[in-house]
Amino acid sequence: MSQEIAHSERQRDEDVLIQVRDLKTYYGSEQLIGGRPVKAVDGVNFEISRGETLGLVGESGCGKTTLGRTLLQLETPTAGEIRFDGTDITTLRGYELKEWRRNAQMVFQDPDSSLNQRMTVGEIVREPLDVYEWKTPQQRRQRVRELLDTVGLKREHYYRYPHQFSGGQRQRVGIARTLTLEPEFIVLDEPVSALDVSVQAEVINLLERLQDEFGLTYLFIAHDLSVVRHISDRVAVMYLGNIMEIGPTEELFTDPANPYTRSLLSAIPAPDPTSQKERVHLRGTPPNPRYPPSGCPFRTRCPVRIRPEEYEQLDEEIWDSLNRLEEILEERRRSRGAVDRFREKVGLDTRYATAAEIREELFEPLAVPDQVESVLDDVSAEIEAGDEMAAIEVLQAEFRTVCGSEKPSHHTVSDSGRTSYCHRHRDEHRDPKTAFEERT
Ligand code: SF4
Repeated sequence: MSQEIAHSERQRDEDVLIQVRDLKTYYGSEQLIGGRPVKAVDGVNFEISRGETLGLVGESGCGKTTLGRTLLQLETPTAGEIRFDGTDITTLRGYELKEWRRNAQMVFQDPDSSLNQRMTVGEIVREPLDVYEWKTPQQRRQRVRELLDTVGLKREHYYRYPHQFSGGQRQRVGIARTLTLEPEFIVLDEPVSALDVSVQAEVINLLERLQDEFGLTYLFIAHDLSVVRHISDRVAVMYLGNIMEIGPTEELFTDPANPYTRSLLSAIPAPDPTSQKERVHLRGTPPNPRYPPSGCPFRTRCPVRIRPEEYEQLDEEIWDSLNRLEEILEERRRSRGAVDRFREKVGLDTRYATAAEIREELFEPLAVPDQVESVLDDVSAEIEAGDEMAAIEVLQAEFRTVCGSEKPSHHTVSDSGRTSYCHRHRDEHRDPKTAFEERT
């Protein structure tokens, strides 16, 4: 290795503040014997450089907040590493963990619920200094007054209570409190989504100014994509506990590589209503993270899911209905208990639809080709026999591809190092962009 390369690698390592490796946070596995955990964060890898803002986006329930809380050790990870300045903080306990926590803070979405209404603003901001017994009480009061000044509040606000402030001012109090112990890293969890649009801009400007002034590193969690685009250097797109794409903001917004990113971004209303921007219909809601789909987590909703060759030209609506049928059978397999099975066996009514009813609901108005009809006949026979698993197997034998059978890998998709988690980046498949052009 040349000295120059060794130097630039060392430089890059020194620039990285946070390094996350194969991080998993699962809930609930300890309570249910043999039960399935909720996979809130399911094996994510990324880095955040010093002074950088990494935006984290995705639909609600995708694991964004759990990931943010895990980075701060407010949640215990199930597996993986979080290196902060080279130290794996998942191994810290007791005094070491308390000392480390000075470095990393969180700003919450709802300033009302994160501030104690019975304490004055001065007491709220001073509390972390009291906990860490920082210098003398007089010096603490002085520091709080300076911080109120820093976040655009008045020193005389020290003795007022949170209810005497507007939403934007209360968020400023929350931000002042996070700064008391001079952290290097702040997780901002939807910090402006509870505020009016005009106030949002003020708080965003404040966050940007503080970042420059104190060299802060941010993880900015939000569902408002335009806010994320404005403030972030890079963006990570999350779905069902996985990072689907991560890379520099403008690149990712102007030329998304991953089918999920493309679908999510196309849901943003264009400023010009006559715009010809391609719109992708993102069907339904994400699956239950306790039962994530096999293979790619996005496969039950992906508009460009890889299909078997003989079904490449199958009508989009029929394909959607086949996906939906598999979901219904999966849900039914999990929820149908012994009582339901007994009722069916003795010919009593149950709350479950018959095979004919499901088929009518999903396929009735569609012109289903004979080859698909014949598969549906076999599926119906298994449903009538009460064996959903066999019905699912019939469907999968005919329609399953790599999207359902293998987890994708992260593929580097640009010189900037942007990565996308999708099988379509493999040479043997058409890339997502071409697939979208063909299917939409
Ligand atoms: S792996 Fe398949 S299902 Fe997943 S995003 Fe790519 S094309 Fe869609």
